[in-house]
Amino acid sequence: MVKALWAAGAALWIAGTAHAEQPYTAADFAQVRKFDAHVHANTDDHVFLDIAARDGFEILSINVDYPDFPLLDKQAEVAHELVAADPRRFHFVTTFSMKGFGAKNWTKDTNRQIDAEIHRGALGVKVWKNIGMVEKDTHGRLIMLDDPGFDGVMNHLEARGIPLIAHQAEPKNCWLPLEAMTTDNDRSYFREHPEYHMYLHPEQPSYETLITARDRFVARHPKLNFIGAHLGSLEWSVDELAKFLDAYPNTTVDLAARMTQVQYQSKSDYAKVRRFFIKYQERILYGSDLTENPPDATVRAQNPPMDLAQFASEADAFWRSDWIYLATSDVQHVEAIDADVKGLALPKRVIVKIYYTNAKRVFGQRQPT
Ligand SMILES: [Zn+2]
Repeated sequence: MVKALWAAGAALWIAGTAHAEQPYTAADFAQVRKFDAHVHANTDDHVFLDIAARDGFEILSINVDYPDFPLLDKQAEVAHELVAADPRRFHFVTTFSMKGFGAKNWTKDTNRQIDAEIHRGALGVKVWKNIGMVEKDTHGRLIMLDDPGFDGVMNHLEARGIPLIAHQAEPKNCWLPLEAMTTDNDRSYFREHPEYHMYLHPEQPSYETLITARDRFVARHPKLNFIGAHLGSLEWSVDELAKFLDAYPNTTVDLAARMTQVQYQSKSDYAKVRRFFIKYQERILYGSDLTENPPDATVRAQNPPMDLAQFASEADAFWRSDWIYLATSDVQHVEAIDADVKGLALPKRVIVKIYYTNAKRVFGQRQPT
């Protein structure tokens, strides 16, 4: 009798272990707690919040000095309204303008404005690719992120423990002709935005120049909580990304708008890409770059779901596709690389980190109890 009980217990234990090792399924998607660490909610119509609630997401909306987006004041206003409406689900990150950079009061004014936004709930600060690619100093030279003119602001963030999300440079495809790019999403973005398509602007800095400036900056701020947006613009090689993460232990990266680049790599070396995610499970944040803009025909955006009626279904489909790739072993057709892609079926504990707990740690949020 005792033996039989023991055997039954062992069988249960084994079944439990086997069960724990099964990856999530597509059907688990909405039930698992998730955090999208890179979206842009540029209207306060609550459509984004509603679909996030339905799909089990908290969202981090990143304000950014992007000419395609509403003005910075308007972005901040939307963020304040949404964070007041649903502080548990909606989070935001502030940014600053480069207007007056180098002038006497720029650092003091910028720090004051950052502190005011942090006080209103911002979880960090974003810098965009305009630093390095657009903004020029009084001598007409491009301003790089490691310019000493940023020291006062960056030291302030470092000292206060305020995270910095940095979109620096661009995907490597940006320096290639359209037909040589590896993904359709890059191809369509750079077709739409020739001003940022560096292949057309050989007088502009090279990919390597921008990445090196970014790395010098990160090295100079070893205590800064640094998040490399878009896989730190090392989306084309998990080997290069691994080197970056090894070299700078204070960094994490988000996956926003670069999943197809990862899928492109896993088509040729599935095991290597899967090993990368498992090895760096503490250093990767799920992010989509989903963007909801005001329904204004003159506004363009990186992922332009301009038809608000369709936004919810597009966001839902986008999120589910990423889930199928990361969390399950299902095969799906990915239009952007015109390929059938098998899911990585990452272990559940890894999925929970990438989809939730890493973001909570990096953005200094305590787990809800
Ligand atoms: Zn973005």
